[in-house]
Amino acid sequence: MIVMKFGGTSVGIPDHFAVATGLVAERAARDPIVVVSALVGITNLLVEFCRGGAGRADLARRFEARHREFASDIGVPADVLEPLLRAWQIESAAWLESPRVVSGADRDRVLSFGERLSVELFAGGLRARRVDAVALVAGDAGLVTDDRFGGAHPLPEADALLARHLGRRPPVPVVTGFLGRTADGRITTLGRGGSDYSAAVIGAALGAAEIQIWTDTSGMLSADPRIVAEARPVARLSFAEASELAYFGAKVLHPKTLIPAMDRGLAVRVLNTARPDEPGSLITRDAEAADSSWRVKSIACKKDVTAVTIVSTRMLLAHGFLARVFEVFGRHHIVVDLVTTSEVSISVTVDDPSHLDDAIADLQGIGEVEVKHGLAVVAVVGEGAPSHVGLAGHVFTLLGGVGIGVVMISQGASRVNLSFVVRLEDADRAVRLLHRGLGLDVDQPALAAGRRG
Ligand code: ADP
Ligand code: ASP
Ligand code: MG
Repeated sequence: MIVMKFGGTSVGIPDHFAVATGLVAERAARDPIVVVSALVGITNLLVEFCRGGAGRADLARRFEARHREFASDIGVPADVLEPLLRAWQIESAAWLESPRVVSGADRDRVLSFGERLSVELFAGGLRARRVDAVALVAGDAGLVTDDRFGGAHPLPEADALLARHLGRRPPVPVVTGFLGRTADGRITTLGRGGSDYSAAVIGAALGAAEIQIWTDTSGMLSADPRIVAEARPVARLSFAEASELAYFGAKVLHPKTLIPAMDRGLAVRVLNTARPDEPGSLITRDAEAADSSWRVKSIACKKDVTAVTIVSTRMLLAHGFLARVFEVFGRHHIVVDLVTTSEVSISVTVDDPSHLDDAIADLQGIGEVEVKHGLAVVAVVGEGAPSHVGLAGHVFTLLGGVGIGVVMISQGASRVNLSFVVRLEDADRAVRLLHRGLGLDVDQPALAAGRRG
């Protein structure tokens, strides 16, 4: 069995959609389970709808029109969508008639319409190719989660439930990405970009031979192609490398995607729907280190990061200082990315400043607090790269040469990642400079390209 996940661009552009359903049909012998995201742009539209305001009626109409037009473009009978579009009319009308505060549960229910409609379209597209297929909402397929709306976690019992509900095939199940359901039946979402994670959770529960992430790039690239036009696919990555890249901004994979795959040792492949014959990237437990002089495979960049520094001369050498600092972050549910310490201070970066003000008030009881907004973390990733003699020197010499100041450095803790913080306005320039300076813009020596999807 394989899991084939198609992202928004793969299902939201008619030509790509036709390729995607064709790819599933061709792989019928590998017993596929399909996971799909909402059509490209639709989740953003629904997020906007939840924000409220005068534009809601227009957004509600656009949502409906987009799906009707898409069904007609791809030749799927519109009646497949009717029950859901009627449910959408009722849901959206309720928000237009009596605007009220949108709770987390409301928001996840509204967002769910994107994926619930796209699975119907995809299953309809497969049936038009004479593939026996059925659309399924992830909750009905057993993906039970906790009730952290907007960022729910699958519960341990989800594995057995998914295996039971998806175990009898055909028909080919076409399951909503991004969505889950609480034990008491309320729809949840797994976080933006979470369909990749859905695919991995389902793949792990059913012991898939491979999890295929079909997207709009030919694999994980050596940098974000929106920053570095000449970025190239990386043929082989380890789970650790791919996780670090995903965590530090490579949007092509949701950061949690590799967790279920790692637990079960399942291969993950990233492939291009528009160029399905290209080998893409194969991510497995073991992947050779890059055969290049710096061992670096890719550079990621996480923007809009905030750094918090706590200075406490009083606490110099006192035990318990770090524990007190982290207790505050933990209590306010703030996720810390990078950490650096000196004798009298600790600096951390956080990417979600929403609860920061309360935390800062508490941190002020421990020491002097300084907050810097408008930063970016750059992560230089490759197995063995950080310990490679001279890499750090080379990186910081390159940056210094063009006057890019480094705000924070985190080296040594990771086997695969040398990361540092720069000002937001220097981030793209730093990534482009290092991409060239570390030789990623030239052909990487042939790392064994994996078998094709
Ligand atoms: P999907 O809709 O298929 O889930 P996403 O938009 O979520 O696609 O992710 C794919 C995008 O991720 C690419 O189009 C690219 O702009 C961005 N991206 C950022 N870093 C990388 C990287 N290292 N490799 C590939 N894509 C990346
Ligand atoms: N449609 C959702 C989003 O845009 C989930 C996903 O694309 O993975 O965030
Ligand atoms: Mg995505």
